Amino acid sequence: MKRLHGVIDGKPFPSEASDTIPILYPATNQVQAEMDVALEREVDAAVDAAARAFPIWRRMTGTERGRILHRIADRLRRENDDLAMMEVMDTGKPISEANQVDVQSGADALEFFAGVAASMTGDYHTLGDNYAYTRCEPLGVVAGIGAWNYPLQITCWKAAPALAAGNTMVMKPSELTPQTTIRFAEICHQEGLPEGVFNVVTGDHRTGQHLCQHPHVRKVSLTGSVATGKRVMRDAAETLKHVTLELGGKSPLIIFPDANLGNAVKATMLANFYTQGEICSNGTRVFVHQDVIQPFTEMLRSATESLVIGDPRDPKTEVGSLISESHAESVMQYIQAGRDQGADLVCGGQRHGEVGNFVTPTIFSGCDDSMSIVQEEIFGPVLSLLTFRDEDEVLTRANATPYGLAAGVFTNDLNRAHRVTAELEAGTCWINTYNITPVEIPFGGYKQSGMGRENSRHALSHYTQLKTVYVETGDL
Ligand code: NAP
Repeated sequence: MKRLHGVIDGKPFPSEASDTIPILYPATNQVQAEMDVALEREVDAAVDAAARAFPIWRRMTGTERGRILHRIADRLRRENDDLAMMEVMDTGKPISEANQVDVQSGADALEFFAGVAASMTGDYHTLGDNYAYTRCEPLGVVAGIGAWNYPLQITCWKAAPALAAGNTMVMKPSELTPQTTIRFAEICHQEGLPEGVFNVVTGDHRTGQHLCQHPHVRKVSLTGSVATGKRVMRDAAETLKHVTLELGGKSPLIIFPDANLGNAVKATMLANFYTQGEICSNGTRVFVHQDVIQPFTEMLRSATESLVIGDPRDPKTEVGSLISESHAESVMQYIQAGRDQGADLVCGGQRHGEVGNFVTPTIFSGCDDSMSIVQEEIFGPVLSLLTFRDEDEVLTRANATPYGLAAGVFTNDLNRAHRVTAELEAGTCWINTYNITPVEIPFGGYKQSGMGRENSRHALSHYTQLKTVYVETGDL
């Protein structure tokens, strides 16, 4: 049986704790590895390694740091197929997705931040005969804590800006999906990242808590649920750490009657069934204008029923396995609640296959805003259709949620598209598309969907602090 453990100072670091966690392949629930649980000793060792590496890494020029990040990105691209299969084995997502998106979007982030590392600057101020300038400085040791749906991408989206800015890092992947993050740490070391700059600790929420409470960690960047975000923020408050929180959502997707319905159907499927619906920004509340609800529902049902569900390793598969048996059961409970609360099941709503955690892509119509399937994040392939009559009404309903991660608008009316997105309370709005998150543009949530931004130059401001230097040129 393969044994997985953390990587500290570029070397494997087995845990002394006796607890281990089995790592399952979600499509069969067979154990593929045992993973160590890092507790206080291992977390301390990882933070110490990162703290020792910090003065070396931060003193290198941005160009030097960027050159190493570029080498790591190149290596990820060369190992794309192996890393993608590793991701499939941990997450249960289809290989057709992992091959195209997971590794490549991680490499994109490394390349983007490798490029901007050398261009980080401060300001210069003339103050009479005196002057002042600002320095954009790294924070120190940064902790990253990841969710299980895009493990390698999440690791890269945090590591790329953090390392580019001169921070060092300790990353804790989800207890369900550690393999690609461990491999990433090995690649970093082999491609010349100095020892201790990027470390991994494996474990569960206790490992995460030790990181959030550690006095020498200066920042925590979490991708996870709202409930975990609140706990992380509470723990981080004790030593006033900086936090970036990328949390859950229940995003609206609004389809006006003048929209291109074919495109709207494709976007609705992308917004609900890609990665088995396990995407934070999914547009799970689909508001369709009453004039087009009938043709829209029929087109959506027909396209959804043709999705290929099954073996995640088969390139033809479009819908893979949910992450775990308990998560599949939780999704099925939501489907039951939808039925019990009076929504109409258009298609799906069943477990699929004899083994694994498959749930068929599910559409409910006739939903109302008070139903639990409409209010709560399900994080699975369950879509709620809601009808609306006019723009003001749909805006009020779309914003009536504690979440604010994303939103989508489909219309051919240019003015309406911009008017509506200006009113939507969401960190990312898509017009006539959905779930596109290139590294060049910021990504993050409004309201309880989080704080801070990943990707784009804006992410750098969350991994740096400004120092002001005032210079007196004469006598006092
Ligand atoms: P989760 O249960 O909140 O866990 C996220 C991470 O936090 C895991 O590594 C977890 O460790 C760790 N953790 C749990 N309790 C902790 C604590 N008290 N202190 C420190 N760390 C702690 O979320 P998940 O089930 O993995 O992922 C699904 C959620 O993530 C959904 O709500 C989804 O919307 C959200 N998400 C958001 C984004 C975004 O960019 N906004 C992207 C992807 C996912 P263990 O798992 O090892 O126990």
